[in-house]
Amino acid sequence: MMVLTKKMIEIRNILQTVGQSNALTLPSIVVIGSQSSGKSSVLEAIVGHEFLPKGSNMVTRRPIELTLVNTPDSQAEYGEFPSLGLGKITDFSHIQRTLTELNLAVPDSECVSDDPIQLTISSPHVPDLSLIDLPGYIQVVGHGQPLELKQKISDLCDKYIQPPNVILAISAADVDLANSTALRASRRVDPRGERTIGVVTKMDLVDPMRGASILNDKKYPLRLGYVGVISRVPPQSASLWKKGSDSISSAITKNENTYFSAHPLEYGPEAGLNVGTTTLRKKLMQVLEQTMAASLQSTSAAIQQELEEATYEFKVQYNDRPLSAESYLAESLDAFKHSFKEFAESFGRPQVREMLKEELDQRVLDLLAARYWNKPITSLSPTPPEPASLVDLPTAHPDSLYWHRKLDASTSALTKIGIGRLATTAVSNALQAHVDRLVAQSTFASHPFARQAITEAASGILNERFYSTSDQVENCIKPYKYEIDVEDVEWARGRENVAGVLKNELKAVEEATEMLEKEVGGRKRLKEVVGFVEKCRKGEITVEGDGATGAGGFSRELLQKGKEASFLSDRAALIRMRMAAVKSKQCASLKNKYYCPEIFLDVVSSKLTSTAVLFLNVELLSEFFYSFPRELDIRLGRGLSKYEVERFAKEDPKIKAHLEVIRRKELLELALNKMEGLRELDVQEKTRRVRD
Ligand code: GDP
Repeated sequence: MMVLTKKMIEIRNILQTVGQSNALTLPSIVVIGSQSSGKSSVLEAIVGHEFLPKGSNMVTRRPIELTLVNTPDSQAEYGEFPSLGLGKITDFSHIQRTLTELNLAVPDSECVSDDPIQLTISSPHVPDLSLIDLPGYIQVVGHGQPLELKQKISDLCDKYIQPPNVILAISAADVDLANSTALRASRRVDPRGERTIGVVTKMDLVDPMRGASILNDKKYPLRLGYVGVISRVPPQSASLWKKGSDSISSAITKNENTYFSAHPLEYGPEAGLNVGTTTLRKKLMQVLEQTMAASLQSTSAAIQQELEEATYEFKVQYNDRPLSAESYLAESLDAFKHSFKEFAESFGRPQVREMLKEELDQRVLDLLAARYWNKPITSLSPTPPEPASLVDLPTAHPDSLYWHRKLDASTSALTKIGIGRLATTAVSNALQAHVDRLVAQSTFASHPFARQAITEAASGILNERFYSTSDQVENCIKPYKYEIDVEDVEWARGRENVAGVLKNELKAVEEATEMLEKEVGGRKRLKEVVGFVEKCRKGEITVEGDGATGAGGFSRELLQKGKEASFLSDRAALIRMRMAAVKSKQCASLKNKYYCPEIFLDVVSSKLTSTAVLFLNVELLSEFFYSFPRELDIRLGRGLSKYEVERFAKEDPKIKAHLEVIRRKELLELALNKMEGLRELDVQEKTRRVRD
């Protein structure tokens, strides 16, 4: 009826993932012993493989929770570290290396940690057992080890040797049992010796008479008894076994059989002693089974209670709302795609046109400032009088070649600013910014992983399309680089538009001036500084050097602000003047285009914008609106593993808590279900025994 242990171990594993509540822990066999007592050899003899860390430098630093799973229907032998996700490891030296690394990762300064390593070994040759290997007790603290190490190890072992666990106390036959640290520790927590199995190793090192008397110990009698073993493979069989002709367990068993049967008086059946690793294995299975059966009732009750708590929490905190990582991701993704669709519907040609036109309006203003309007003041020394263009512009005669060239050069500069790149960059940036805004407003806002995936999805598509789009756009505006025909209606529209642009620019200049007033401490103060700066400019006052250290009682910073204010005031005057010009009758007609470069350049920029938008729409917008949701599906939908979906969902603490309570509830339900089944099995078994 060993099926009980197997099922209990299954339940134990389920409960382990639920959480570390002591009431939920099913009994295990805890292995304790001094260093070099032969603890590792015993465990390896049970498993039949060498897999534990070896070495003199405290190689067991963390508890190893070892689950042995008997797999009678399969020949495969392998180990798994459930929390590391390394998969099935069939090479036991690999398991040994992994365990060594995990243990040595605990720094020398701490030496032991109570964070357990979980390892499951499946094999047709192991019994169903759950064992916990602990760091060996030490007598003296080694060089570089913390002084309190002895105590730390002892405390760690004490934590595990509590009921209902079974204690496997290892002592070596060649050391007096009275000095066995393992037995002393077990006696502290199990004074009546009810749940301790004494294992005496190295039986081959003492003469049989003495060996037999050790196993018959009366000073600390154990209800579960003592078992004597020789768990080391003797050197001659070791070489045979290494060659693969034999397994480690059968080599040990053969050796033990030879030794113990050579001393029938002491170890023969009449002596009534327990010897040999095979006997030990059987005993372990039996004892664990009984202990587990005994704790069926109490563990069931504990699970029941935990389940009630989880159910209550689920109801009160989450209103019984079902949730899974997958459904959460799918809903979040749907909602995000929906908001993107809405955005896509609202961001079409008109919006791109407006955005691009604004961008070009700025370029037009820059061109006008550089070629027609005033130039910024760069120093306090007198500058030449106002540029001729400004003074002359009202007389810009349609037949004057000078004004022809000036307008041609400005137009040409505008068509050659690299509209392709400029427009593509502007639209790409706008799309990316909109996507970021949508993410910030979505459930993905609290998910760094998803945020990154979405940003990368967007930038991936935009980057991929960038050069071809920008080239296309540039190609299509090419004709404007040579000739531009303007119709009357276009002129009228341009005139209206540029009036608005100038008005906005004037507003911006006025706002900047107000800012400066605030910065220097009022309008009056700014006027004083500007007055001084302007006098310098006109040459009415001469300043030594360039006024780098201040002048006229004003600091350098103040003078700088004065210069800026003076520039802004010139600019404002100019814009007002040009606004008046644009509104004037003269500018109503295309004939006077040389007098109204603002309007002409506006018409050009409108033409450039319209053409660019046409291609941007096809090459970038439509492509993006089509590909982006698909890319999201790949990056956040189908493309994610179950583990990644979980990780994603748990990034949000609220969702994590919600998912965990559901998972906890499900696992407890599962454990309880299995438990109920077991109890029935146990009852049936007991009835059968009574009947037999
Ligand atoms: P641990 O430190 O308690 O894990 O002890 P080990 O299992 O590493 O054993 C310590 C030493 O004792 C090793 O050299 C083993 O080969 C040896 N040893 C273990 N068991 C026996 C045994 O039954 N007989 C003999 N002669 N040596 C043993």
